[in-house]
Amino acid sequence: MEKILKAEGLTRAFENKGERFLAVRDVSFSLYRGEAIGIVGESGSGKSTLVRMLTGLLAPTKGKIEFLSRDLTHAGSKEWRKCYREMQLVFQLPKESFDSGKTLGSGIGESLRNSGLKRKEVREKVAELLSTCGLTPNFAERYPGEVSGGECQRAAIARALAVEPSLLICDEATSALDVTVQKQILELLLRLKNEKKLSFLFISHDLALVQDFCDRVLVMYQGEIVEEGKTEDVISRPKEAYTRQLI
Ligand code: ADP
Ligand code: MG
Repeated sequence: MEKILKAEGLTRAFENKGERFLAVRDVSFSLYRGEAIGIVGESGSGKSTLVRMLTGLLAPTKGKIEFLSRDLTHAGSKEWRKCYREMQLVFQLPKESFDSGKTLGSGIGESLRNSGLKRKEVREKVAELLSTCGLTPNFAERYPGEVSGGECQRAAIARALAVEPSLLICDEATSALDVTVQKQILELLLRLKNEKKLSFLFISHDLALVQDFCDRVLVMYQGEIVEEGKTEDVISRPKEAYTRQLI
């Protein structure tokens, strides 16, 4: 199986009131094509810091990142730009990731800017992407303020898919949604995983949420991976307090 992403000994130090602490400490894992890894841990355990390093937003203090067999550890923006389209992020608050003054359709269309498609073809592609994500074509004309959180998250996923990425990183992508909508978004992600052979990093503070979606789970606590394994094993045998309290 093709290795999509490899993190080796990733570490990030910050200063807090003059004291240096490690927000992420020696994190290593590999992700394969078509696989979904859940990264769970209580608030402040270092999940988003890890994501920011993987996506090139934050330089690691130590460690190594390989993405699609390329070394992205010290990715200056040049090396990064060539790769970044293959790695798409979906955030907790989709409305903040769209420009409130532009329609969802133009937001999604921007991702197709360098695709060589003509205007009409872009419109058709946007409608197709919306449909893939369970939205009718008329959502292209709506503004972020005119749709629900779940609908906006679907549009954000459509935009991420526009560039045909290999990896979707969802950082608390369902946390702001109510339980029913969370389930629906997870169903969508599961369908994408199966149909498109997409790989996922699914970051959440809720272990139960990853149950039906992730093949493997890493549990983070105070910046470290304290437990990892197949999802069903981690969930059915909560060995430690830091895992139990996440269920
Ligand atoms: P999580 O996403 O798991 O809730 P974060 O990665 O956001 O956790 O944060 C991990 C720890 O690092 C927290 O203690 C947080 O306050 C700290 N932290 C995150 N970003 C910074 C920063 N830019 N400067 C200083 N401390 C930070
Ligand atoms: Mg976070």
